[in-house]
Amino acid sequence: MIVAEEKDTLREKLKELFGYTTFRGNQEVVIKNILEGKNTFVIMPTGAGKSLCYQLPAMIKDGLAIVISPLIALMKNQVDQLNAYGINARFLNSTLSKSEITRLKKDCINGEVKLLYVAPESLNKEEYIEFLTKANVSFVAIDEAHCISEWGHDFRPEYRKIKTMIAQLGNMPVIALTATATPKVQIDIQKNLQMENADIFVSSFNRKNLYYEVRPKKETKKQLIKFLKEHKGKSGIIYCLSRKKVEEIAQLLNVNGFSAVPYHAGLDPDVRVKNQDGFLNEEIDIVVATIAFGMGIDKPDVRFVIHYDVPKSLEGYYQETGRAGRDGLEGICLMFYSHNDLSKLEKFNKDKPVQERENARILLQEMEYYAESPICRRKQLLHYFGEEFKVENCGACDNCVHPRERFDGTESVKLVLEAVQQTNERFGLNHLVNVISGTEDEYIKSYGHEKLPIYGKGADENADFWKSVIRQTLIYQYLEKDIDSIGVLKIKEKGIKFLKKPEPIELARDHDYTSDGDEEESPDRVPLNSKAYDVKLFEMLKALRKQIAKEKKLPPYVIFQDPSLEEMATTYPTSKEELASVNGVGMGKVQKFGKSFLDLIKDYVEENEIETAADVVVKSSVNKSKIKIFIIQQVDRKVDLEEIAESKGISFEDLLSEIENICYSGTKLNLDYYIDEMLDEDKQDQIFDYFLNSETDNLEEALQDETMEDFSEEEIRLMRIKFLSEYAN
Ligand code: ADP
Ligand code: MG
Ligand code: ZN
Repeated sequence: MIVAEEKDTLREKLKELFGYTTFRGNQEVVIKNILEGKNTFVIMPTGAGKSLCYQLPAMIKDGLAIVISPLIALMKNQVDQLNAYGINARFLNSTLSKSEITRLKKDCINGEVKLLYVAPESLNKEEYIEFLTKANVSFVAIDEAHCISEWGHDFRPEYRKIKTMIAQLGNMPVIALTATATPKVQIDIQKNLQMENADIFVSSFNRKNLYYEVRPKKETKKQLIKFLKEHKGKSGIIYCLSRKKVEEIAQLLNVNGFSAVPYHAGLDPDVRVKNQDGFLNEEIDIVVATIAFGMGIDKPDVRFVIHYDVPKSLEGYYQETGRAGRDGLEGICLMFYSHNDLSKLEKFNKDKPVQERENARILLQEMEYYAESPICRRKQLLHYFGEEFKVENCGACDNCVHPRERFDGTESVKLVLEAVQQTNERFGLNHLVNVISGTEDEYIKSYGHEKLPIYGKGADENADFWKSVIRQTLIYQYLEKDIDSIGVLKIKEKGIKFLKKPEPIELARDHDYTSDGDEEESPDRVPLNSKAYDVKLFEMLKALRKQIAKEKKLPPYVIFQDPSLEEMATTYPTSKEELASVNGVGMGKVQKFGKSFLDLIKDYVEENEIETAADVVVKSSVNKSKIKIFIIQQVDRKVDLEEIAESKGISFEDLLSEIENICYSGTKLNLDYYIDEMLDEDKQDQIFDYFLNSETDNLEEALQDETMEDFSEEEIRLMRIKFLSEYAN
């Protein structure tokens, strides 16, 4: 009972302060942990919502929460966002004047400030520490905590002094948050902060709304312009390897009429700041940048991230693509790939010490595998981070949307596993390929491997084929990489079972990026979400948002984010209360920015004679229509149906009824992402055929039909929805 109550109050707080109705992923458990005063370590991918994990407890707890964040340039931005919600957050860094600092100190000591953003270098100053000891500090949150570790990709020496400073303030709970932490980095962070006892919350790294695609780097400029034309007016980032390339592409885009600016470390600092702000404020659509751009940029509505050149590592690629679609809406990740780029990157490394060069080479090889592999991109990325993605077809990557040709790989997998076994699980990929294909070299001879029964058994296929097969057996969990010796492959449980009793397995051929012709069809049609909202009104709301943002000198998304505007363009709120109930709005924002939005919607509704939420109340309760919109949005975002039901606190049955109502009233819902996981194609066809040939869509009758006896009621209902969506609507 108490638990349920507590849950409700947390949700109420969430709605009241931030306007959101539900927590995402681990947010709620993390927040509870922090509220209990425990040290907490949060690992969550970019865009998952780390900030809220400390912002909400900061508001609930007595006193002042300190947030350590590495980039001074972006602190103002985060504080602006909080202020827009009516939260008293401030920042302390070297850009403040003396009098501003004096005032800030006073407000902190008086207990007026709830969140204080601090740069780590400021914490070394005696005078700051001194006044903070006088303030009632509730906890310290360390954002981008991977900066602590030398093994991470963003090491900052000042971060290593944080613990000493916290100790000076007296002991208090510490929350560390980061989006990347390989196990090594994770241990490093905990040691340095002396929080080995912390509760660790690791979230899945799957970014469901991102679409991944790799294209051959041919006629790249043409392809790029074509893509950008199809996405005109949207925000995006284009990453290039060199400053020179950045300048060149930015210019190309300008000549072609796009609003784009360059960004790299060679530009004057004020030009850099101007270009970055232009992007955040929606005056500029596209930033063409080296990887110097991006960390800490939390612009939620970046709609695409393009890698014009091949990135140096999969980790970097994941981070950079992660900047797309943080608001949960569309995010397209496109990479142009060529062997030539890889060779260039290899050359960069040639003067490095041996070990470093070897490490860099391994990272590049992973990149190569990723790009050329026929396996689901998502599965590969998650595999790289040690996570198994079990869904067969993710529906949102080029390899799943346009599957490569498949072949029966049972025999090939068997040969690979035998090769590993017969060489006693002591060798890496290249050696195994030589053994299978019968390619004699000095290693083969020195180990006498040419005498093994497996030697040359796969001579009728080339080395690339065998490399591809081995990589697929790795991702499908038949083999694994040895932890202690780099590159060595071992057989997993699943592989041993397979050798005892081989089950048929399908493999696919790699992409071939070497040939010159144009035969590699580039799937340039990214599946677009069908829009469930009023596009015209949405555009008008966006324009208004931009205008207000300009007046208030704030980035537009600080006012309202895209998902909120989409909801407004679906529900047409015309009163303050209705507006406040829109997800992501809340009363604070209604008071601050609501009026002109309400006016616009009222005019629009009148002109177009639209039935508004207020009119609908007469027919059904507001709650009901809200739940429908929620469902439509969640389904658009491919959220698991169980999750949707749970977050609304209704049963699966009731959810199905709601969905049926939605469909019967004429809205198309695409549930393929869910159905495909539950029923294979044949079974789907079987039910589909039934409805095609049946006189009625009556459920009772379907259940009685003898051709349907293998199916559950749920399955039949889901297929009926699919049928209705495809045929009736
Ligand atoms: P991270 O720091 O993990 O990269 P952010 O904290 O910047 O992510 O959050 C990313 C986006 O998600 C922001 O636009 C934020 O408003 C939104 N967000 C966070 N929590 C929720 C929630 N519970 N419901 C809806 N949107 C949320
Ligand atoms: Mg963040
Ligand atoms: Zn996929």
